[in-house]
Amino acid sequence: MHCVDVRTAISARADGEEPPPEVSGAALDAHLRSCAECRDWEERVHRLKVLTARLGLV
Ligand SMILES: [Zn+2]
Repeated sequence: MHCVDVRTAISARADGEEPPPEVSGAALDAHLRSCAECRDWEERVHRLKVLTARLGLV
């Protein structure tokens, strides 16, 4: 799995949307365990989510 696919799925999940059908939750978690860059990226997505919710932008 490529990082770009993982990140698409992560942001979909963060938005409460269905992840792309080709990316399963298990494959996503396996990639996150092995890829520090995607873990960092996921963390930033969640931080941004919390921040925008707090500012009432969503
Ligand atoms: Zn990655």
